[in-house]
Amino acid sequence: MSTTWSAPGRVTLIGDHTDYNAGLSLPFGLDRRTSVTVRRADEPILRVRSDSPGAGPVSVPARVLELPEPPAVDGWAAYPIGMAWALAQAVPGAIGPFEATVTSDVPVGIGVSSSAALEMAVGTALAELFGLDLGPAELAAAGQRAENVAVGAPTGILDQTAVMFARRDHGVLIDFADLARRAVPLGLAAAGLGVLIIDSGTRHEHGTGGYGQRRAECAEATSVLGLTSLRELGVDDLDRVRPRLAPNVFRRVRHVVTENARTARVTELLDAGRAAEIGDLLTASHASMRDDFENSVPAIDAAVAAAVDAGALGARLFGGGFGGACLALVPTDRAEQLAAAITAGVVAGGHPDPVIRLAAAADGPR
Ligand code: ADP
Repeated sequence: MSTTWSAPGRVTLIGDHTDYNAGLSLPFGLDRRTSVTVRRADEPILRVRSDSPGAGPVSVPARVLELPEPPAVDGWAAYPIGMAWALAQAVPGAIGPFEATVTSDVPVGIGVSSSAALEMAVGTALAELFGLDLGPAELAAAGQRAENVAVGAPTGILDQTAVMFARRDHGVLIDFADLARRAVPLGLAAAGLGVLIIDSGTRHEHGTGGYGQRRAECAEATSVLGLTSLRELGVDDLDRVRPRLAPNVFRRVRHVVTENARTARVTELLDAGRAAEIGDLLTASHASMRDDFENSVPAIDAAVAAAVDAGALGARLFGGGFGGACLALVPTDRAEQLAAAITAGVVAGGHPDPVIRLAAAADGPR
């Protein structure tokens, strides 16, 4: 017997670097998917293969699932094997030998969380194959554990939660203070709007890049201010806390606090069917990352500026940053024209290979 599950990539409409600060985020599922077919194996092994370039087949002994320490697997296979290990930790003894075959049209490495798509497709497929009694939030938590412990990337739970709870034509408002979630109608089609995803061509590296440093700066601010999380601060508190923080740490805090406020405001506007009014908030979010959180790169700044100059309603870097992708909110009837103008702007900025596609908000695992 075999079963196949697929899961979407993730786009953050707004709300980045808020997840590990008990804040708000509004992601949606990308209409590009990773599919995983799993079947029980006859031998005591876990075998994974993928059609992704450079992702060769990997086999490990099935007994790694029984060990308390994560399996020592390098490269891409750390995601599916780490996911299986995290599930086996959650439900001891439930997972046996298996083979998994991965196919995907989620772009890898541009910042749409191909890793969460892979983890959640593997997780939902294994949950069905081995009859695991785990809900979507538990699968998301196992995905975060796989990523933190087995892969060694210190990421929050935004991506896995977004992927698990994604819904067609909706965003997922996530409140990381208590992990409450709610589907928010995007209303883009009704407003004649679409979202362009712009891959700048620059690449990120979470494990070794500035992501961990930013997390540490946020943790430092939380500790210096005697808080449980930065969620306890509102925009009105910023002037008061400023003298107690190093200038760069204050700027990180200002991004997180204002990003929570922007995310709440975008949600209100979308709930009211006013998608055409969210553009300035998206662009303000970009400025906040560029100037305060300092996780943008010149290629993304060039793409955002070109998008806004060409008539996008708003544009922003999304995801962890330090490279990767940005999005632009555009009138659908001018999407092609705007994509051409954005390409020209990015190329003129010295970045030769932008790839631009129109995205739609898609369903979670199925
Ligand atoms: P991004 O969000 O930019 O896609 P991630 O941090 O989510 O980057 O992880 C990308 C990594 O996930 C890849 O380097 C690869 O190891 C793994 N990965 C994602 N999708 C696949 C796939 N379909 N096949 C093999 N490996 C994959």
